[in-house]
Amino acid sequence: MNPPSPQVAILSYHKIGPPLPGGWETWYYISKQIFEQQLRLLAERGYEFLDLPRFYRGLDDPSSLPAKSALITFDDAYRNNLTAALPVMIRLGVPGVVFVPTNYIGGMNVWDSGGQEPDEEICDWNDLLNLERYGVAVESHSVSHPSFSTLTPEQHEMELRRSKETLEAKLGRTVEFFAYPYGDAGNDFAFSETMLKKVGYRAACLYGGGVVTLPSADRFRLERLAMGPDSDLISMLAEK
Ligand SMILES: [Zn+2]
Repeated sequence: MNPPSPQVAILSYHKIGPPLPGGWETWYYISKQIFEQQLRLLAERGYEFLDLPRFYRGLDDPSSLPAKSALITFDDAYRNNLTAALPVMIRLGVPGVVFVPTNYIGGMNVWDSGGQEPDEEICDWNDLLNLERYGVAVESHSVSHPSFSTLTPEQHEMELRRSKETLEAKLGRTVEFFAYPYGDAGNDFAFSETMLKKVGYRAACLYGGGVVTLPSADRFRLERLAMGPDSDLISMLAEK
């Protein structure tokens, strides 16, 4: 018998719904309708949606997973994840994960302001607790949303550790999942992995890439499907 090698599609979203007044559409905005179509397409193609505890279990024991599963993730914790995405997810029974940069909780996306992306609100603590209540786990996207390849070793460790501690103090549970801002895992991957383990993370995500296969995927450098409104999900899911 072949060893089980389940496939997990980790989808990476940013903003669901329209921009704020005065903003403008970019590739990182997806309408509620298209978001719902993408989730329905996954279900139609036999992907089971995982919540975070089930995903962790699958990392440790791939045989616990179905042949095809999906984990829905959001980077930056935009407030529209709560107001626009969550109602769709509740209706379809889809859990997920939101990665938040802790310095910006209750603030704005100032790390990519200056014309790159429109201003958007980041969830406040009440918003984050509401996401958690409905099955969307809140995990770390660093403290200040830096490019990790620009950090000193001390800054690198601080970004991992302080964000984890801040979230754990408010959420009242352990935070063990990380997403690198910009998918930038630093210049020395051995160092990055050592730091993740030292600080107490179980897994970390990059940005972009394809469907991952367990157990061969590197849990500290998990690829994700970068989702936009024109993403051809069927070809992105192409069986390997
Ligand atoms: Zn980000």
